[in-house]
Amino acid sequence: MRDLKHLIYFEDLLQEANNELVRKGKEDGNICLGYTCYFMPEVLLDLPGCFAVRLRAPRCTSPDCHYGRSLLERALEGGFNFIDAQLATETCTVTCRFQEHLEYMDDVINNATFKTSFTDVPFKKNENSIDHYRKQLKIKVLDFLANEFGVDTSDKAILKAIEINNEVNDIVTEIGNFRKLENPPITGYEFSVITLVSMVCPKYLIVDKLRETLEEIKKREPDDKPNFKIRVLLAGSENDDPDFIKLIESCGALVVADRHCYGSLEARQHINIEEGEDPLTAVARHYLLTSQCARFMEQQEMRHRKKVLADYAKEYKADGIIVESNKFCEYWSFERMIDTIVLPRDFGYPVCSIEKEYINTASGQLRTRFQAFVESVELKKIQEGK
Ligand code: SF4
Repeated sequence: MRDLKHLIYFEDLLQEANNELVRKGKEDGNICLGYTCYFMPEVLLDLPGCFAVRLRAPRCTSPDCHYGRSLLERALEGGFNFIDAQLATETCTVTCRFQEHLEYMDDVINNATFKTSFTDVPFKKNENSIDHYRKQLKIKVLDFLANEFGVDTSDKAILKAIEINNEVNDIVTEIGNFRKLENPPITGYEFSVITLVSMVCPKYLIVDKLRETLEEIKKREPDDKPNFKIRVLLAGSENDDPDFIKLIESCGALVVADRHCYGSLEARQHINIEEGEDPLTAVARHYLLTSQCARFMEQQEMRHRKKVLADYAKEYKADGIIVESNKFCEYWSFERMIDTIVLPRDFGYPVCSIEKEYINTASGQLRTRFQAFVESVELKKIQEGK
């Protein structure tokens, strides 16, 4: 396939958190708001005069570093001095510890205006939970931004933020839909780069290039002969490293769908406002109900998550599922083990279960695992006459 026109530009934007567009967003007078988890609604950090940046620690070289520690290391190196506030959620342990260090050690972020806020997120998905979550978002996000930075948090402002988010959500989703084709005109690696830039750059500065990329993909000719052996769905916890996906694809498995913390299947869903609903309630409902995070532990929720994964696998014509969790990720280590048993048993999907580092230096071992998985799925396909 011909290279995507903006791919190198997008890859460059992912080389550091304080990238060219983040700097431009700040030069334009906007407040830069960091976050780490899906439960901090990105859309509320994109209110007029602000922009959201999902924090990453690209090119982290520390051995045995997990997500939260890599972020803290990057913060101590001065790599996050550009953020004006970090808005966290009481969700994953490692990201909570990261937030506590920012909150209690006043010399981690070298920025005189730097502030933090911590939001509580319910463990259930019911009307009471939506109500509680809405109240938390009102106090810990909207009131925080209004009081500390003078941000307009009116319904009109939230609607504007929903509009720009939906524009980006719809473009990325439309690009992702091409992955359902038998021979997709986009690789999983390219798609992960596109999804990630949409999360780490001010949306008003990246949306034109995303739209142009969509138009390009509509006309892009895939290679005549597909150069993959099987198609896989990638599920699991945080993964903001496109090279991890490149590694999977180099073993012959095309990544066609991504249900993980930095994937598109949740983060890029269109936000709908139901009739008679105020925009903040719509946001609370959307983020709580669309999440397929393993922290919801009710039995019916846990079982429903398997069905959602199997449905995605069917929709994207995946032959197998790779479930990854980062080292020390409590929720997903249990979920991964359950997935490994339940998805093959109840839904017929082979599973490759991986515990990974934040940045994967041990690629030799992973390569061996992925190659073995690809071979076993290929064999299964031959036996089933597919
Ligand atoms: S695993 Fe769940 S709680 Fe943790 S970062 Fe992902 S969405 Fe948030």
